[in-house]
Amino acid sequence: MADQDLIIRLDNRLDQLVNIDMGERGVEHLYKAARALQGGSLVGAAADALMAVPEGGTVILTTGSVSRAWITPDLGENDGPSGAAAIARALVMARNATCVMLCEDTLLDAIRNTCQAAGLFPVTLEQAAIAREDKSLATIVMLPYATDDEGGKAQALQMLDEIKPDLLFSTERVGRNEHGVYHSMRGIDYGMGRARVDFLFDEALERGIPVVAVGDGGNEIGMGKVASHVKDFVPYGDQCQCGCGGGIGAVTGCDVLVTAACSNWGCTAIAAAMAARTGNAKLLHTPDREALLLDTMVANGLINSTHGVVDDSVDGFPRDSHLGVAELCRTIVSRAL
Ligand SMILES: [Zn+2]
Repeated sequence: MADQDLIIRLDNRLDQLVNIDMGERGVEHLYKAARALQGGSLVGAAADALMAVPEGGTVILTTGSVSRAWITPDLGENDGPSGAAAIARALVMARNATCVMLCEDTLLDAIRNTCQAAGLFPVTLEQAAIAREDKSLATIVMLPYATDDEGGKAQALQMLDEIKPDLLFSTERVGRNEHGVYHSMRGIDYGMGRARVDFLFDEALERGIPVVAVGDGGNEIGMGKVASHVKDFVPYGDQCQCGCGGGIGAVTGCDVLVTAACSNWGCTAIAAAMAARTGNAKLLHTPDREALLLDTMVANGLINSTHGVVDDSVDGFPRDSHLGVAELCRTIVSRAL
């Protein structure tokens, strides 16, 4: 097992790599703010939180952004699903965790297929309990979440009571602003058909259940933690274009925030930090698996939201940049494996 000083150095390198602001979104400011608040590597803190999930514990994850909500609720974006799938896989491998993935009913098939390509077979909660007992199958439980405010609040109470998660994880999942509006990075209201999962995260924080969140823009669950910095440094952070009177920043906070230039990169780095902590290379999100997931997301109609087209660029970054980030994360932690 690697010594603690080495782990800290590797964590900091992973942080630096995924926070190079290649998309010019102002993420470097959010990164500095989050580091100052959390007092160390963001990626490292997330990996510590995930590794602290009890063996055989339960984690609720969410991702999925209805990308062109004003046209159709059936279209999701390709930043989010592959990262969430990589984290769920690492949690199953490292903690024998039961992972429950929440998204809109309309995006369920695409995200399920992405998780399956990451090695997780979709099952019911009851079936997942059997698999956890005998460790015979790597699973994922996919559940739809309500797309109206009242339904979202009601489901939050019911789900936390019934599933009793040990941790909640969100990546690239838009949360409402102080006026209850869900904004795109261009400051437009695109809340129609969108799951109100942020209410679940608010309730979890209220109950003291650990929450880890990844985001790249300021409008995602978790960014409430650096709200003033979103207002100051992110386009439309102060004033949206929809006329609601607020900015795009999400009000929902988190315990551990991970910023990244692309949310999927944040997840790739967290998986690498988990691998470093355990010395287990199987936890890595490898370039080969990233390639498979990119292809799967294209086959399932998930969109490169920056260019408005279904292809294997994510957030406008070309395919090779995602394989490259996965390779560099692996290289950074290789001394601990
Ligand atoms: Zn607005």
